[in-house]
Amino acid sequence: MSDHDTSLRTPIVAVLGHVDHGKTSLLDKIRGSAVSEGEAGAITQHIGATAVPLETIADMAGDLVTVEDFDLPGLLFIDTPGHHSFSTLRSRGGALADLAILVVDVNDGFQPQTEEALDILQRTGTPFVVAANKADTTPGWNPNENAPIKPSYDAQSDTARQRLDENLYEIIGQLSDDGFSADLYWRVQNFQKNIGVVPCSALTGEGVPDILAVLMGLSQRFMKAEMEIDVAGPGEGTVLEVKDQQGFGATLDVVVYDGTINEGDQIVVGGVNDPIVTEIRALLQPQPNAEIRVENRFERVDAVAAAAGVKIAAPDLDEAMAGAPVRVVRDRDVDDVIAEVEAELAEIEVDTEEEGVVVKADTLGSLEAMANALQEAEVPILRAEVGDVAPRDIAVAGTAREPEHTVILGFNVEVLPDAERELEQSEVTLFADDVIYQLVEDYEEHVAEMQRAQQ
Ligand code: GDP
Repeated sequence: MSDHDTSLRTPIVAVLGHVDHGKTSLLDKIRGSAVSEGEAGAITQHIGATAVPLETIADMAGDLVTVEDFDLPGLLFIDTPGHHSFSTLRSRGGALADLAILVVDVNDGFQPQTEEALDILQRTGTPFVVAANKADTTPGWNPNENAPIKPSYDAQSDTARQRLDENLYEIIGQLSDDGFSADLYWRVQNFQKNIGVVPCSALTGEGVPDILAVLMGLSQRFMKAEMEIDVAGPGEGTVLEVKDQQGFGATLDVVVYDGTINEGDQIVVGGVNDPIVTEIRALLQPQPNAEIRVENRFERVDAVAAAAGVKIAAPDLDEAMAGAPVRVVRDRDVDDVIAEVEAELAEIEVDTEEEGVVVKADTLGSLEAMANALQEAEVPILRAEVGDVAPRDIAVAGTAREPEHTVILGFNVEVLPDAERELEQSEVTLFADDVIYQLVEDYEEHVAEMQRAQQ
């Protein structure tokens, strides 16, 4: 047995779904409604995440959540929505987010990114709730702001409810086609077996209390054991982003999912070449009450305990990778911690061959996702790396023997200015996008065109 204090940390929640289905609006609504509950400390803005304490959730959710029924401290929402950020962020090989909200526009139904997101949720075994968003756009809808959806749904005219139901059953049917048993959430008995679908509106806030209640219920019932952490233990986290910050140089935006990180701690971080060993110079959080998403207004903190988002300033972070693990060394042997970080990175490594295309991606996880998609399409990979497109990538792509392989596929990356010039003078074709299936499609189209030209 450990003599450390164990404690229950906040479950980490990610928001996924197709573009324009309302992910950002829903996150904004959750934050906004919480703040308008009026109490100081209704939410805490972290770097890259927002903490909503149980008390606030109970205030927002009315009868749906009673503080006494829960011992988890609340929910931590990752601020960057999208399955991209979800799938690229891991902790010890699993998903960094413990829970997810899958947002589906009730009118638009399932779309390619909905399917991609579901795929990832299924693969990672992440419990989730479906937010059937934009219920307010149902013809004849009578809005009931910030209210739980069930009474609001019951109070609609028969025609409005029938119209919404048609769309909701379409979504439930699509979930079932993908192998998920789902139902309107108020009919679900066992949320581990059945996916709850919550009609909601990120515009009016209807259904938002219900979504929070389902997430709290899911985590309280099924995830408590996983939320037990050694609070005082050496902090562990995942890099969300590597960012230059005036006065600090390269800094890390990190979500801490275990233990505590202190100013002055020695840490090991996954780097482009080797793990980086450095010492924390400062831990930064957004200033309380600063506008959400206004950057550069930080205050220093001495320590952060999981679960939390924080900015780490330390020397030598230029080559740190988004998606990589961060570990505090504390009382351990630094070589052991380096080995742990290396082992974790090795899990994400991509198989390369002697002939193939060059792949660049913004994070480790997205690199892996790209590699999986290419493998499915039977496209060999010569080199796969995290980072922007650099001159040497063009040189490497230029060495491919097959013309169809003198290609760079860039996911969510930029082309460095030097590389821009070289690209123009080379035979190498660059495809850049922030949607994986689009990149693969564009590449396949390119190959098909080359084949047509040869005939
Ligand atoms: P994202 O791309 O998934 O993050 O989608 P956004 O949150 O940016 O929303 C896309 C558009 O849909 C914006 O114009 C929003 O104002 C609108 N929208 C989002 N949620 C709702 C909703 O519940 N009702 C209505 N009527 N519009 C919404």
